[in-house]
Amino acid sequence: MKQEVNPILDNFLFTTRLKDLLAWSRANSMWPYIFGTACCGIEYMSVLGPKHDISRFGAEVVRFSPRQSDLLIIAGTITEKMAPVVKKVYEQMTEPKWVIAMGACAASGGFYRAYHVVQGVDNIIPVDEYIPGCPPVPEACIAALLRLQDKITQEPKKHREALANSK
Ligand code: SF4
Repeated sequence: MKQEVNPILDNFLFTTRLKDLLAWSRANSMWPYIFGTACCGIEYMSVLGPKHDISRFGAEVVRFSPRQSDLLIIAGTITEKMAPVVKKVYEQMTEPKWVIAMGACAASGGFYRAYHVVQGVDNIIPVDEYIPGCPPVPEACIAALLRLQDKITQEPKKHREALANSK
C-alpha cells in the first residue's frame, strides 16, 4: 500500500544533522587570508576577478587579519626568514582552519633549490591542498577550493562510515 505523504512536509521540509549543516556552511563560506609573496599572489587576484569570480563558491571575502580567516592560501616563495611569520599567522587563525599551497614555490620550493628558501610550506604548517604549476591557472585554484570543500563536507560522512565499519 502506498504511504500517504503530506505534500507540505514533502516539499518544504528536510532533515539533517547539526554537524552536517555546520560542515556545509563552513565549506561554502570560507574567508581566505592570502599570504602572497611573489607572482602567485598576483595570479590569485585573477581568481577573484569577474571572469573567474570565486564568489560563486563562497570564498571571495578575503581578510588580511588571521583572526577573521579560516583558509590560509600561501601564494609564492617562502624564505627561511619568513617561515616564523607564516607559522604565527597560521597559529592566530580561527579553528577549524585549512591551508592551500598555491604554486610550485609554496608546494615544494619551486626552482629555488637554495638554503634560504623553504622547500615546501608543509615543512612549517599542515597543508590540505596543493596546487601545481608555475604559475597555476585560475581554474586550478578553483579546483583546489572545490576539493577542499568536498573534504570539509564529507568529513562527517567518512566518520559515519568509519563508525559503521567498526561495528
Ligand atoms: S610558482 Fe612560479 S609563479 Fe608562483 S611564485 Fe613561484 S615562480 Fe612565481
